[in-house]
Amino acid sequence: MWVRWKPEHDPCPECGFSWGIAVTGAVELVRGSPARYEEAVRGRDATAPVLPGAWSPGQYLWHMVDVLRNGTERLWTIGIDPENGVPCWDENELAEVRSYDRQSVAVGLRAYERSVTGWCEAAEEVRSDALTVHAELGTISASDVIRRNAHECRHHLVDIQKAPVPEVGSWSDSESRTGAATDAG
Ligand SMILES: [Zn+2]
Repeated sequence: MWVRWKPEHDPCPECGFSWGIAVTGAVELVRGSPARYEEAVRGRDATAPVLPGAWSPGQYLWHMVDVLRNGTERLWTIGIDPENGVPCWDENELAEVRSYDRQSVAVGLRAYERSVTGWCEAAEEVRSDALTVHAELGTISASDVIRRNAHECRHHLVDIQKAPVPEVGSWSDSESRTGAATDAG
């Protein structure tokens, strides 16, 4: 469930992401993700844990907003001030102080789309072999940050997809009969 810096096994056994992906492919993966997240989140109960003890789709969504915002800042650091290095952050502490569980899912989808736009811009601006120092991991390159974020993007989409899709039930059946719903299911 938790995404380490780099999968211990390549490709990642949970989501199939390969660390060998080209940097441009990783950027495209993230660029195309907002529609996938929207479909995955809207088709499920966004507030119920995807599995017992796990985050809800809404919490994963807000986590990804912050992953890409933080990733954008890391890419800017590599491009603008690499000597500064990048600090660590704790995703659970951030989830707590940002109250992911009480944030609007609709706003999260907007925030996610905007964070993807900014991240893609930063990923395309930076030289992929440019380096900085991560507080725990040591020297990292822009391509490491890009692949890491692209992996999280795919991995957490798969996490969200673990949540059940509600059966087409009486609500949409009755709506369909009245002709009110055109896209039930
Ligand atoms: Zn994975």
